[in-house]
Amino acid sequence: MLVGDAAAFIDPFYSPGMDWISFTASAAAELITAQRRGEPMAERIARHNRDFALSHRSWFESIYKDKYEYMGECDLMSLAFRLDLGLYYLGIVSQPFKYGARALLTPPFAVPRSRPVFRLIRTYNRRFAQMARRRRRLNTLGKTNRGRRCLIPGFTLSRGEIIRLFRALGKWAWLEATEGWRSWWQRPQEEAAVTPALPRDAAEETLAIGRP
Ligand SMILES: Cc1cc2nc3c(=O)[nH]c(=O)nc-3n(C[C@H](O)[C@H](O)[C@H](O)COP(=O)(O)OP(=O)(O)OC[C@H]3O[C@@H](n4cnc5c(N)ncnc54)[C@H](O)[C@@H]3O)c2cc1C
Repeated sequence: MLVGDAAAFIDPFYSPGMDWISFTASAAAELITAQRRGEPMAERIARHNRDFALSHRSWFESIYKDKYEYMGECDLMSLAFRLDLGLYYLGIVSQPFKYGARALLTPPFAVPRSRPVFRLIRTYNRRFAQMARRRRRLNTLGKTNRGRRCLIPGFTLSRGEIIRLFRALGKWAWLEATEGWRSWWQRPQEEAAVTPALPRDAAEETLAIGRP
């Protein structure tokens, strides 16, 4: 049975390694205990494999995919940071406090009630990436960073955090109304065209690295 990094590894940006090891090791211990009790295992193992594969894929697809497109944009990244962490505290960190160790038997995004949250995160993450690609195409990437800092007082498990989440969602809506709508209908070929072009020499040098 695979656990921790041996089972799967996700981008270290948000340090999900300890979460992942808690979920996989708890589920592994539960399965081994059930088998030792002589319970039928086929269905349990199939569910385990399905849930963890779905969780891992969803975690990557919603939070990490294309993050590097906008990581250098202070306004987009600080907004994503507030939303990502706010939802993480609300949906993942809070669960073991509420339900004890058994909360660790259900990996994130694997149950139907968490799928709308998965779709919400995936949507704003994709939108921020799309806005950043448009900025790159217009050569305005990084132009609003000067003088900005992302200072967050930290997150708690109090209900008041929900207000901060709604404020961040409001800021996202404002961003869409003032800038984002311009990339709503951006076609895939336009998106592809915004991959930064390396100067000719640099491009040749990069290609040469893999040569013998
Ligand atoms: C620099 C760094 C910073 C990190 N920061 C964070 C963080 O802030 N928060 C967070 O959640 N995660 C963080 N992580 C990720 C986290 O450390 C890993 O996800 C976690 O340690 C994975 O645990 P593991 O037991 O699966 O693997 P490991 O901790 O890698 O344990 C595997 C063990 O197996 C041993 N081993 C390997 N091969 C053999 C063999 N053939 N025989 C016997 N033993 C063997 C290794 O020596 C090792 O001790 C960080 C990782 C790194 C590298």
